[in-house]
Amino acid sequence: MAKRDYYEILGVGKSASKDELKKAYRKIAIKNHPDKNPDNPDAENKFKEAAEAYEVLSDDKKRQQYDQFGHQGMRGAAGGGFSGGGMSMDDIFSQFGDVFGGHNPFEGFFGGAGGGGRRSSGRRGSNLRIKIKLSLDEIAHGAEKKIKVNRLVVADGVTYKDCKTCGGTGQMRKVVNTMLGQMVSASTCHTCNGNGKIIDKRPAGVDSSGLLQKEEVIDIKIPGGVGEGMQLSMSGKGNHGPNGGPAGDLLILIEEKPDEVLKRDGNNIVYDLHLNFVDAVLGTSVEVPTIDGKVKIKIDPGTQSGKILRLRGKGINDINGYGAGDQLIHINIWTPKQVSKEEQKALELLKDSPNFTPKPGKNDKSFIDRMKEFF
Ligand SMILES: [Zn+2]
Repeated sequence: MAKRDYYEILGVGKSASKDELKKAYRKIAIKNHPDKNPDNPDAENKFKEAAEAYEVLSDDKKRQQYDQFGHQGMRGAAGGGFSGGGMSMDDIFSQFGDVFGGHNPFEGFFGGAGGGGRRSSGRRGSNLRIKIKLSLDEIAHGAEKKIKVNRLVVADGVTYKDCKTCGGTGQMRKVVNTMLGQMVSASTCHTCNGNGKIIDKRPAGVDSSGLLQKEEVIDIKIPGGVGEGMQLSMSGKGNHGPNGGPAGDLLILIEEKPDEVLKRDGNNIVYDLHLNFVDAVLGTSVEVPTIDGKVKIKIDPGTQSGKILRLRGKGINDINGYGAGDQLIHINIWTPKQVSKEEQKALELLKDSPNFTPKPGKNDKSFIDRMKEFF
């Protein structure tokens, strides 16, 4: 199913401010909240859709990436699992803190077992960053990579006990006498971070949040058409959060390995073809490399150095699906650096022939005309 435009989901314009985004999202979230709409899959879908849209558009970096590359830039190829590929309810509820100014209106409001109960008490894990170097072939056709990452994961074999500081409630209560009578103030317990439990025993290598550094192999699906400096994000593949908090993201920075033969210029591929002088005069056909293998092209008799031939659609597929670029073949006539006595004699015979006298502007388009034609 095609994804709806994030701005459309929130019902705002492309230039919406952060405040406008927040307001629009609050309205949709309140209207479609699952606690208010039990067993209503349509409301749940709208709720999740809006959360995802807000998650992307409220983050300057993600919004910029989305504006530039659309859903493709956020998720990669089908089933790639990149960020934006659906948020869990926990993710959505943990987002509410920012949206509703520090307090979640559903907490308490809809009863204890409501939205608040689903919130995870742990902090979100940190993001992991890796770089991936891709060849032109991988950029052109997409790639699947297995990458080793060291990430913090929830360790096995950790036992917990009730926190003594707060007696396992996760909250510290203080009774204060005021003019209006006794007031009870509650705050999060600092010993257990509100978790109510602390680690009793942990195996070697496990840190005080119950996390363990572990090498994992992650499958990364890179869509075709990515470019230098582009960043892909896989949600939930970063470090696990302490105390059962949600995992951070894995951020993948793309680097391009320059190709020695085919140069990339946006979605176009530029190839320098060096032609023998005689072939340029008499015409020939030659094989040229492309990103999809060799292609035979015809060289017309009298082809000038500097001419550009275009192989339409033989460039890189646009990452947003706006078609493919072209391959531009730049003709260079090869001038021999040394010649034998016999060759020299033959060339000198040709030198004074009228056919060998340059006629600039008569037989060929000027450089500027060629540029206008191609760019
Ligand atoms: Zn405690």
